[in-house]
Amino acid sequence: MVSVAREEEKSLTFRDVSCALCGPGVRHRVLYPARLDSAGIKPEQLFSSRRIPGRIHFRIVTCDRCGLVYSNPIFDEETISRLYAESQFIDDPFLKNQFINIKQDYGRHLKKAAAHVPGARRLLDIGCGNGFFLSVAREQGFSNIKGVEPGRDACAKADPDIRPSIVQGTFTKDLFPRNSFDIVSAFHVLDHLLSPADFLNDVREVLRPGGIVLLVAHNVRFWVTRLAGEHAPMFHIEHVYLFDPRTARMLLEKSGFDVLEVEDLTCTYTLAHALKMVPMPISVKTSILKMLEGKPAADIKVRLSPGDMLLIARKPGEGSLKKDGAA
Ligand SMILES: [Zn+2]
Repeated sequence: MVSVAREEEKSLTFRDVSCALCGPGVRHRVLYPARLDSAGIKPEQLFSSRRIPGRIHFRIVTCDRCGLVYSNPIFDEETISRLYAESQFIDDPFLKNQFINIKQDYGRHLKKAAAHVPGARRLLDIGCGNGFFLSVAREQGFSNIKGVEPGRDACAKADPDIRPSIVQGTFTKDLFPRNSFDIVSAFHVLDHLLSPADFLNDVREVLRPGGIVLLVAHNVRFWVTRLAGEHAPMFHIEHVYLFDPRTARMLLEKSGFDVLEVEDLTCTYTLAHALKMVPMPISVKTSILKMLEGKPAADIKVRLSPGDMLLIARKPGEGSLKKDGAA
């Protein structure tokens, strides 16, 4: 079934996935059949952060009861953990300038989240990559910054002054004391998790009462995604669950959060990076990107709505609003 790296084919096993909101036993229907034939791409290349999106994904289904979109079946947990740990953090020539844009966009999200927790100083970024967002947080006055990142390569590429703040591994609540952060952020993490509800429960544990979780995730029902259908880059082998504003809200509430903001994002990209996301054959993309290499046009800034949504939610407790409207 999988023609990726034939020498590994025999070791790849699959597991069934059930709806993260409704649990096992609820029926689903198939949106798109699996597309795992990647013409010789090795598994470790599939799980590289910020690679050119290809059209490689597991079977995509939607829950009959709640409408949640997810991959099913997927590789078993052990294989996925291994692929993430081995994934390469790509430093391509285009990325340097795109990082400036990402830092500015994420910096704006942080200001928005911090507005809900006056005096916030303690921040945890989960899936922090090389820790660039930790430096953004430090610039905004966060004095206690921590990151968690499974990719060994990304950790190794962190700036020397940030590296000691990063734990290499998978986030669980046991890594940190309870109630120890004002803000926990996770950008493009939620869609990758096998158990997003368990993840959010763990986030809630390490957040102080009244603390904020700041998430960016794909919106699978964004209009561009609907138009692009199966060609939308978010249908990707790394994504287990794909949420929309309604299902994301359900997940956060199920995990004990009060949802404060759900918003579709407009983000800044370099022209080169924007091209990477456009649904077109990978060979065409590669040749256009080759032409742009080293040219000033590659760094022209464009504003796009990529189908990402910003989610801000609060752990109930001190500082939270009374839900029943009573004074
Ligand atoms: Zn469901």
